[in-house]
Amino acid sequence: MIMEEMTSREFAAGLERTRTAILPVGSLEEHGSHLPLCTDTMHMEALARAAAERTAVFVAPAISYGLCRSTAYHPGTVSISFDTVRALVADIGQSLYRQGIRRLIVATGHAGGGHQAALVEAGEALKAACPDLVVAVLSVIDLLAGRVADLIKTPGDAHSGELETSIVMHLAPHLVKGTSPREFPNFPAPILVRRPQDFWPGGVWGDPGAASADQGRELIARGVDALVEVIERVKAFEETPTSNP
Ligand SMILES: [Zn+2]
Repeated sequence: MIMEEMTSREFAAGLERTRTAILPVGSLEEHGSHLPLCTDTMHMEALARAAAERTAVFVAPAISYGLCRSTAYHPGTVSISFDTVRALVADIGQSLYRQGIRRLIVATGHAGGGHQAALVEAGEALKAACPDLVVAVLSVIDLLAGRVADLIKTPGDAHSGELETSIVMHLAPHLVKGTSPREFPNFPAPILVRRPQDFWPGGVWGDPGAASADQGRELIARGVDALVEVIERVKAFEETPTSNP
């Protein structure tokens, strides 16, 4: 049930089928010189919409911006702050709760550390504010963990490389503009550099040359399987009441 395409009456009727919703979160972020800035949003939205064809769940409109740290200075990245990510997700979650949603899955296609921490903080705030709301927070990396070792040929592939290029080749081939060179960043950790792009000029973390549309189709299929499993677990989850608030 795709919320933005439903009428108010259809939404109310949908609550008779399920009280579970997915909130996809993405980013507007450089993805090498060959993938669109919306790659993370497109990826998670595709998984959520496909999962909604297999199990009763509302899909809220995606949040198309995220907190992007290491790519913040590459052309095209539009990053929002930790507090904004946290407040956006907490506000939307509260409103969904007032509308009758009792199980919320915050699912992000952008897997940056600070970004994911903001989502977890939003989930914690929602847990405190909405006593009978079950909240789950996950990323595409969580969904694919342990499921794609036989598919991905590039060790350490993380951003705009084999995996994401395959995904976009499958979902929106017209948005793949050639390819980018294989690259891994050379950050002088633990120093927080002022110009990360100097240590990561191409903005690729992996090998786009190893990608294929067939692999993308398989990655999406496995991601949808994993997301449907999470939705069913969240629907069935019952927590033993405790004296803790
Ligand atoms: Zn990405």
